[in-house]
Amino acid sequence: MAFNIGLLGLGTVGTSTAEILLDTAGRNSLLKEIIIKQVGVSSLDKPRKVQFPSGVMTTDLEGIVNDPDIDIVVELLGGLEPARSLILQAIANGKHVVTANKAVIARYGDEIYTAANKTKVYVLLEAAVGGGIPIIKPLKQSLGVNRIKRVTGIVNGTTNYILTEMSANGADFADVLAEAQKLGYAEADPTADIDGWDAADKIAILATIAFGERIKREEISCEGIRTINATDISYAEQLGFVIKLLAIAQSSKSDSLEVRVHPTLVPKEHPLASINDVYNAILVEGEPLGQVMFFGPGAGGGATASAVVSDIINIAGILKSSGKTTNLDPLLSCSHQHYASLTPTEEIETRFYVRFLCQDVPGVIGHLGTCFGEHQVSIESVVQIGFKEELAEIVVVTHNVQEGNFRKALAEIKDLEAIDSIPNIIRVL
Ligand code: NAP
Repeated sequence: MAFNIGLLGLGTVGTSTAEILLDTAGRNSLLKEIIIKQVGVSSLDKPRKVQFPSGVMTTDLEGIVNDPDIDIVVELLGGLEPARSLILQAIANGKHVVTANKAVIARYGDEIYTAANKTKVYVLLEAAVGGGIPIIKPLKQSLGVNRIKRVTGIVNGTTNYILTEMSANGADFADVLAEAQKLGYAEADPTADIDGWDAADKIAILATIAFGERIKREEISCEGIRTINATDISYAEQLGFVIKLLAIAQSSKSDSLEVRVHPTLVPKEHPLASINDVYNAILVEGEPLGQVMFFGPGAGGGATASAVVSDIINIAGILKSSGKTTNLDPLLSCSHQHYASLTPTEEIETRFYVRFLCQDVPGVIGHLGTCFGEHQVSIESVVQIGFKEELAEIVVVTHNVQEGNFRKALAEIKDLEAIDSIPNIIRVL
């Protein structure tokens, strides 16, 4: 039996995907039955690492998704359009879809899965989160019987590389970003990575699977790493923490979900604290399992293609055993119907690290304590770290407090005469 693939995109991931499909020795034997029938790109003149017989490569992407001989469309274009429209067209034509496109799935997952369930086709997306790390299928299947409490991930390699370098060398954000761009670890326009949008797309997908409810991407509270500087990294280190960009989804007391992305002080002994450079890791906490962590290369052509091709052979395996899909396997499809209600940021309970620059006058720490206390913000530690010019630098770490109360206390503290400025506020895990 042979399965025809239409590959949309022959860039970093598309090329590695083709390389696996064209070099099957020593891999799963199902790969021998998979044929790349067409490859869609934007330019036929670019030099390519893989060569195909004439007629396979085309710029007519609609022709691929409308080709009746194609069984599985593999979307590796990136971006929202034409990726979304081509996925929907493929589904309408009864084709299964494999995609690595977190941006499309995080925003249009509802539309895409509703269409896929109607025409009874699979849309698999193992590569969309964590690159080569298997996390989507394990969450759906191996961990499916657990009551998931929390999913916490380092899911963006670029920001993890930048924070690791800043931490190791005491370097400033801008310098490390420039270096990361030179090494190809950060895009020329790094906004989606460093402002946390890419991580927000990924946690939207993970939360949907872990908690069985769709997530409105635009409701996710998202802060990036632009404000992190060498001073905070050094103070965090002295207090026993490292700073990581975490994407967190957890059930909350009020029957809603907390889904957020922000830089976080992570205790050095926490399993995520030692995830460095471009690596990704996802910690899943559930009942009765407890904690399980997935770790590995979160990006790169080969790693990501490994996840793409695993989806392809999953579909091929189903087609081989049962022919045309009359009913979708509930362990591989997505049938969530309703949207989760997300906890408003001001109601989320978390710990905070906050750094103040103040006049060196008696009673400042007492005033801080009073303002926090009046808003039910209890303080875990207050440390006067040193002096910056004439100003005393004080770092406060709170206990778990409601963010709304914390912000109200800060608004009052800002107006205290002795307070010069509040250079940074970072959440603490
Ligand atoms: P890429 O290197 O930029 O490749 C994109 C490919 O799509 C190119 O072959 C390009 O054609 C083609 N393409 C883009 N827009 C097109 C259009 N409008 N019409 C025709 N062809 C078009 O991207 P990538 O890094 O492989 O990423 C692909 C997907 O994988 C994205 O969704 C990305 O988020 C996801 N992903 C990537 C990584 C990674 O490490 N790179 C990791 C995880 C997930 P030309 O070659 O002719 O320019």
